[in-house]
Amino acid sequence: GDSDVGSSPLPSIPSIAESKWNDTASFAKKKSVQAWYQLPDGNWELGKVISASGTESIISLPEGKVLKVQNDCLLPANPDILDGVDDLMQLSYLSEPTVLYNLRYRYDRDMIYTKAGPVLVAINPFKKVQLYGNEYIEAYQRKTTQSPHVYAIADTALREMKRDEVNQSIIISGESGAGKTETAKIAMQYLAALGGGSGIEYEILKTNPILEAFGNAKTLRNDNSSRFVGWVGWGSGVGWWMVDFGCGSWLAGLAGVVGLGGVARLWVRGLVGLGGVVGLWVSGVGWLDHGLLGLGGVAGFGSVGLGGWILGGLVVKVVGMAVKVVGMVVKLVLAINMMVGGGCLVVNQEWCKWLKRRVVSNYTIAGVDDAEQFRNVMEALDVVHVTKDDQESAFGMLAAVLWLGNVSFSITDNENHVEPVADEGKLAFVALLFLASVTLLIGCEVKELQLALSTRKMKVRNDNIVQKLKLSQAIDTRDALAKSIYSCLFDWLVEQINKSLGVGKRRTGKSISILDIYGFESFDKNSFEQFCINYANERLQQHFNRHLFKLEQEEYIQDGIDWTKVDFEDNQACLNLFEKKPLGLLSLLDEESTFPNGTDLSFANKLKQHLKSNSCFKGEREKAFTVSHYAGEVSYDTTGFLEKNRDLMHMDSVQLLSSCMTSLPQRFASSMLVQSEKPVVGPLFKSGGADSQKLSVATKFKSQLFQLMQRLESTTPHFIRCIKPNNLQSPGIYEQGLALQQLRCCGVLEVVRISRSGFPTRMTHQKFARRYGFLLLESVAAQDPLSVSVAILHQFNILPDILELLRIQEIAHFMAFYVFKAVSEATK
Ligand code: ADP
Ligand code: MG
Repeated sequence: GDSDVGSSPLPSIPSIAESKWNDTASFAKKKSVQAWYQLPDGNWELGKVISASGTESIISLPEGKVLKVQNDCLLPANPDILDGVDDLMQLSYLSEPTVLYNLRYRYDRDMIYTKAGPVLVAINPFKKVQLYGNEYIEAYQRKTTQSPHVYAIADTALREMKRDEVNQSIIISGESGAGKTETAKIAMQYLAALGGGSGIEYEILKTNPILEAFGNAKTLRNDNSSRFVGWVGWGSGVGWWMVDFGCGSWLAGLAGVVGLGGVARLWVRGLVGLGGVVGLWVSGVGWLDHGLLGLGGVAGFGSVGLGGWILGGLVVKVVGMAVKVVGMVVKLVLAINMMVGGGCLVVNQEWCKWLKRRVVSNYTIAGVDDAEQFRNVMEALDVVHVTKDDQESAFGMLAAVLWLGNVSFSITDNENHVEPVADEGKLAFVALLFLASVTLLIGCEVKELQLALSTRKMKVRNDNIVQKLKLSQAIDTRDALAKSIYSCLFDWLVEQINKSLGVGKRRTGKSISILDIYGFESFDKNSFEQFCINYANERLQQHFNRHLFKLEQEEYIQDGIDWTKVDFEDNQACLNLFEKKPLGLLSLLDEESTFPNGTDLSFANKLKQHLKSNSCFKGEREKAFTVSHYAGEVSYDTTGFLEKNRDLMHMDSVQLLSSCMTSLPQRFASSMLVQSEKPVVGPLFKSGGADSQKLSVATKFKSQLFQLMQRLESTTPHFIRCIKPNNLQSPGIYEQGLALQQLRCCGVLEVVRISRSGFPTRMTHQKFARRYGFLLLESVAAQDPLSVSVAILHQFNILPDILELLRIQEIAHFMAFYVFKAVSEATK
């Protein structure tokens, strides 16, 4: 906004937010001036001002519409000469409609990349665009092109790494389906091409199919949605790669969060679609798993779905393995559950409970050959030296997870206690087979699995007692077991990849890390997942703000501007709301989770009681509350918060796995033990008796987030914000509202705003002189750009204050504004 002219060395700057035609009278008098008009539906249209009075203007809109509108519904449009500029900062008028227009202008011409100051904006083309490959890589390497590109970002990172000897990071964020993972791959492609051809660079790209197969799902928003946070590093020197998902635990944490309600990682592509998805879809929530949570125990797990290619190929393997390892029974079960389709075997979804609840209309993806994809995965597993035996075990674990979904319980007494199996009457025999299948696949006795799923061992003083589980507890236990197996399997795969790539061994020199992370999420209904994700994004945003602020500050100092006058908004207050002890959102959540009688409602009430005076917090009706995030207000529904925050994995399940005769479950059990026995700083949970203590999910998430931030702090960040232009995954469709909402959420407009609070548009003397020089009535003696600029301003009687600014290297936006105004006056 306007600064206090008195004390400031700078004249007041017309802020863009307020530049709503402040000077309408003079400005709009000039006929045919173009302006943006906001329609009642929120969209903007470009119109021409036909005439204007003090407060109202008459404008003509496309399709012959002529309207009389309030001047404050109008925003100035940029001159045509600025159409489609490379960097939004070059726009004379920087506002939501002008940013949207500029991005669209470029998008329509397949220029999907645009700079917003230091940030790269990438709009998903949903089609092949001619922007990649060796020719382009070379052009960016040789700097023969300046167009914004992921390659340019990767190149800058590489140069800065070498020049400054500082680790670099490329932080990619955006909604599901916005193109983060593709963008990460494009950056990797560039680094791989420049890696010097030792060959190892390509290995990382080859491992992609593994991570995608096990970590992605077909969702309603993205046919190939990654459900994990990717962290990939590239190092100088030998040119090694590291795949290291945010210290591993960050990934685990996210999976944990997701896993608690749904099982993100269970979503091998096509492994989508259990009941939960319905919930998710209905509520419009972005995380597939989210909805699952709402459905209670079983649904909590609901995200498993099978089908699609992985299943296709995978099941063949499972059959092979099953035949080999488990013999007759399983062979039978699998056989009756399979049918031949599309050249490979697929599971009959009708037989898999977790698959049957699919919501995605089908498991196939147009243009994707499942069998071929599966072969790629197998090849990739070979590349990273996973032995054939281990491959079979891995698929066996997947099969076990699926059959676990079919394990049902029967109630044995009037207190709702259960026993696994056999509530299906005639199908009791089949139900037993499901149970038997699981035990054969993981290598334990049927009796042991039955006990682990229906009882809990507790230690009361010095006595070991066995408590029978109630139906809902048993279901939770079963789902938690399945989720743990799946998430351990994923971690194990990442570990195998890391091992084969030599992560940690050749870690010399500096590195570039690429982070592919979910962006801020705000839906009609927001749950624990959004709560965690948005908290993480709030942290990342702070990192982002500080970085930008630092950059700005450096430039101002260079230009001799008093930067202390520049006001940057901080999101520390919101972070405090989350992190403060003991009265912050996270602490209160943990506290309530430890109370045996705590409920989502009592948690919500506690928040309202303790946080009502916090300006970032608002209590809502019943179980809801609202947080004012940097990207806007989000209302959270606390339903399921406590359950998701308490980790459900019980020691009995860990013990079960450790007693298994096959190697993978044993390895999984020991890694689970390591995780739960980590030295603890946060609150402890007692679960399954006095002998096991546990971190809450939120606490784990927070500590992993801090680890991630710590690693990021020591790097020079480069930001890429991905935008999804439509929800149809179709090329050529650009929905203004959708784009705008993401631009706000992923901080692009915020960058613009931050820069606005300083000196937004910089124009060199040279450019200024070139652009306005023709207006000079008399030629200037000295032809240097500074003299020409000064003369132009003199000619139009522009304030001496502003002239002062010419003494510094660059002149700010408002100069162009004044000149533009003066020019309009002069030429009318
Ligand atoms: P996210 O990781 O953000 O969920 P993805 O990177 O998986 O999204 O992208 C979703 C889909 O969008 C991809 O499968 C691909 O079809 C398309 N896509 C994304 N970026 C590009 C691009 N640069 N060129 C072509 N298609 C793209
Ligand atoms: Mg992704």
